[in-house]
Amino acid sequence: MITAPKVRLEPNNKQTSKLFQSAGTARWAYNWTLAKQEESHKSGGKFINDRDLRKELTILKQTKEFEWLNKYSNNITKQAVKDACDAYYRFFKGLSEKPKFKSRKKSQPRFYQDTHKIKFKDGKARLEKIGWVRLSEKDRIPENAKYTNPRVTFNGVHWYVSVGIEIQSESVELTGESIGIDVGIKDLAVCSNIEKPYKNINKTKKIKRLEKKLSRFQRKVSNKYENNKKGESYVKTGNIIKLEKDIRKLHKRLDNIRTDYRHKVTTEIAKTKPSRIVMESLHVSRMMKNKHLSKAIQQQGFYEFSRFIQYKAERQGTEFIEADKWYPSSKTCSVCGHVKTKLSLSEREFKCEYCGAVIDRDKNASINLSRYRVS
Ligand SMILES: [Zn+2]
Repeated sequence: MITAPKVRLEPNNKQTSKLFQSAGTARWAYNWTLAKQEESHKSGGKFINDRDLRKELTILKQTKEFEWLNKYSNNITKQAVKDACDAYYRFFKGLSEKPKFKSRKKSQPRFYQDTHKIKFKDGKARLEKIGWVRLSEKDRIPENAKYTNPRVTFNGVHWYVSVGIEIQSESVELTGESIGIDVGIKDLAVCSNIEKPYKNINKTKKIKRLEKKLSRFQRKVSNKYENNKKGESYVKTGNIIKLEKDIRKLHKRLDNIRTDYRHKVTTEIAKTKPSRIVMESLHVSRMMKNKHLSKAIQQQGFYEFSRFIQYKAERQGTEFIEADKWYPSSKTCSVCGHVKTKLSLSEREFKCEYCGAVIDRDKNASINLSRYRVS
């Protein structure tokens, strides 16, 4: 099992400025990578492998102009290049929107640490080229453990370090069953082995209320910018600063609620202990092409959902499979196997013209997915 404790750092002044500089270096490398990918994309080129970009960066570091990069851990730029490549790759594959350049003002200061070089001892964390930094909690992170994905982040007030710690997974008795999960807009997920669908949390009153509040704040802020405009330039008043802080807080809150829900659902599904879980692989990308649906899809976070379910499955020994995009999970009758030639998005019920079966569209798809055979 993996736990990921996040502990507050208590750096001295010198360390604090090094933390910010390290985050700045990560941001620089991220943006440099995006610019490289974009340049290639625009000129009709292919996606550039992160290994090739890292090589290019190593050569850059030997030049006078980019000498300063050597003051910071090599792992910071390495990971930032990788993160940017991953984000661009998802865009390339149609899984998410085009990644944005990280601005100094808007992006969260954060950077990566090497899994082998980070150390914890006597209530302190050793960060590469920064030194031993005091932690606010002494015993949260065990010494001499195997750490994964160490990240250092700044939340606007404090710096935090988080690491994944691998704990030997308990041996889970699996049921031998293969299950299918159909994800969608109406419901977040419908499982072949669970009767009730998992609702789309964005349709709940709580989220709708927060979303309304958010857009109200956003309207307010843009009005204030307009009203305080001096000539051609915008002025940031104390009011605007406060409103923007409230907006960031709301975003964070919405994000937390959605992530918690994703965790809750994926944990529950994994707990049914199937031997195999099948999901459709390109569901997301196909729907992202529909402009009306793409916002809803992003809010649902299908990509993160499938990542959660994958790691929760695999850590207990459940096989995780993504079905081929041509597999007709929606158009096939799960009762007799008849395949429809047409099925419009508005048909919520699958009505088989061959055997007469009537079954919920998503349930039908999930059952078909559970029977998917890898060819
Ligand atoms: Zn049928």
